[in-house]
Amino acid sequence: MVIVHTAEELQNKVKSKKSSLGLVPTMGALHLGHLSLIKRATDENKQVVVSIYVNPTQFNRTEDLENYPTDLTKDIDLLKPFEKKLILYIPAHEELYPDGIKSKKYDFGSLTAYMEGAQRPGHFDGVATIVEALLEKIRPSKAYFGEKDFQQLQVIKALNQHLALGIEIISCPLIREESGLAYSSRNSLLSLEQKSNALVIHQTLEYLNKNAYDWSVAEMELYFKSKVEAIKDFEVDYFSIAEPSNLIPVKQLDSRKAYRMFVAVFVGKTRLIDTVELVRK
Ligand code: AMP
Repeated sequence: MVIVHTAEELQNKVKSKKSSLGLVPTMGALHLGHLSLIKRATDENKQVVVSIYVNPTQFNRTEDLENYPTDLTKDIDLLKPFEKKLILYIPAHEELYPDGIKSKKYDFGSLTAYMEGAQRPGHFDGVATIVEALLEKIRPSKAYFGEKDFQQLQVIKALNQHLALGIEIISCPLIREESGLAYSSRNSLLSLEQKSNALVIHQTLEYLNKNAYDWSVAEMELYFKSKVEAIKDFEVDYFSIAEPSNLIPVKQLDSRKAYRMFVAVFVGKTRLIDTVELVRK
């Protein structure tokens, strides 16, 4: 596996023309969700940079940052099947934050006003700062992001448009365990009991999806809360339904429009997010 720590080393390893360089930014603790992005990137590009960097500025809770899982040995093992095309980039803080670890300020309008933006102050400034730094340094032709973090994806598309570096942002579907639980690095922080109980999140979203356009959003929220909060240590942080284009939560559904449900749930101290596109009848 080619492993580099600086952008300079990285550029020396880029053999292919820039027109076929993919980028998959991650925070490590890799799982099948990440691997689906990496698979797609290696299918579509001659070389792919996978970055592993736990970005401090996107964590609004110190405890969350301190507990964030890392396992580089396992990550490298998981990346082995793709290694011919991969450059694994593991930057130090000084590489991405030469002037100290702080985020820039951005204005993404309604895209960051609700849900993760409202519940995690400063989170998207941190995300945008690090993604901007990675895109600027690596200059890939395509960069891959998951719909698991749908709000983040929309923010990155807006950022990318603003940067105008000629990079294409590729959105990749959310990958779930067979049980329905969305793959997340944070799942490794759950006890076995919490993990099996966490299935309620996706199950309830799917149930709501079957009945979506018959209920008001308030009724759906109440139902979601009643199912999820019936379990010990589970607390709903938010339940929202919004149009993908503006991410403004709505109260009433219009059958002509497409929406997504967005949820965040505390399972003990671990916070999980999930999102499902509403199926129109
Ligand atoms: P993270 O390491 O959590 O920052 O995630 C790195 C990238 O992988 C982001 O673009 C995420 O949206 C994506 N990702 C994480 N989990 C999943 C999943 N279950 N399915 C698809 N993409 C995912």
